[in-house]
Amino acid sequence: MTGASDIFLRKLLETPSPCGGEDGIARIFTDYLKDVGKVEVDSMYNSYCVLNPDCPVKLMIEAHSDEVGLQVTYISEDGYVYFRRNGCVDGLTLLGRKVVIEGKNGPVAGVIGKKPVHLSGNDESKPVPVEDMWMDIGVSSRKEAEELIRIGAFATVESDPEFMGTKLVSRALDDKIGVFIIAEALRRMAEKNLGIGICACAASQEEVGSRGAVVAANRISPEYAICVDAGFATDFPGMPETKYGVMHLGKGVVINHNCDNNKELAGLLVYVAESEGIPYQNYTNLAPTGGTDTSGIQITGKGVKTALLSIPCRYMHTPVEVCDLRDVESAVELIIKVAEELASK
Ligand SMILES: [Zn+2]
Repeated sequence: MTGASDIFLRKLLETPSPCGGEDGIARIFTDYLKDVGKVEVDSMYNSYCVLNPDCPVKLMIEAHSDEVGLQVTYISEDGYVYFRRNGCVDGLTLLGRKVVIEGKNGPVAGVIGKKPVHLSGNDESKPVPVEDMWMDIGVSSRKEAEELIRIGAFATVESDPEFMGTKLVSRALDDKIGVFIIAEALRRMAEKNLGIGICACAASQEEVGSRGAVVAANRISPEYAICVDAGFATDFPGMPETKYGVMHLGKGVVINHNCDNNKELAGLLVYVAESEGIPYQNYTNLAPTGGTDTSGIQITGKGVKTALLSIPCRYMHTPVEVCDLRDVESAVELIIKVAEELASK
């Protein structure tokens, strides 16, 4: 990774991008790519960068920019802050965590409180429903709290990105790692000038039903779309591979096979990976359709030839998601080589 792309990745991971609040990450994406192609942000905070904007878009490369998080619903008389999930955050990982709340005058620090284990008795083994959790932002009244935050404020669990060898740990690698991949692929493709319209799109609101990607695909009407998202790794305890299939970190980008994946495009991805010696894994999705932006994009307009590339990810929707940078590199390489194939057709 170059210095600039390393800084870009850190910015993506450190900037909260709750579903419905992707404006900050849209600015980071378009700022990084503004010298590469034509950039734009739409009303849903989908952000775009287009190469050869005068041509029809032959290839869309897409990843979702939103992350699961929390949203403030109520502030008690004594200043404690209640919330609901904004996307399917893992409730078991919330207690005792630091959070950052979107404040009226900048980020507000808080913690999700918990009764001392010494006093929990038999309750210790029982999961706490999210609606019974609270944030403590260090104030003692509703009035004080409302000077800092408002009902409806977004919050994210704090988690600094860290490296463990080739592996990267962070919250929201799902799917900021995908956003990083499409930006890197586009940047490198721009240097080759393939002569076709290519659009990289960081789409909003995937975690609440693939809402941004559908608008984006309708807007740019691509012929082909390659989506990149985090996939359920199976190389940790409690993931029987007879049930979940095989997806390992560090073994290469994952090429998916189900109804969301056009046979011709999935076949081309496999062919190119084989012929170029790019590490890859074939994977049959757990369901015949759905679960990523791919299915939404596929049925926009007159239909789009879609494919999903996954980056194996451990501990999805927790603050400690883990991916491997070797899989990131193989995804970038594969996208570029397939774009070259499509450009020659
Ligand atoms: Zn995702």
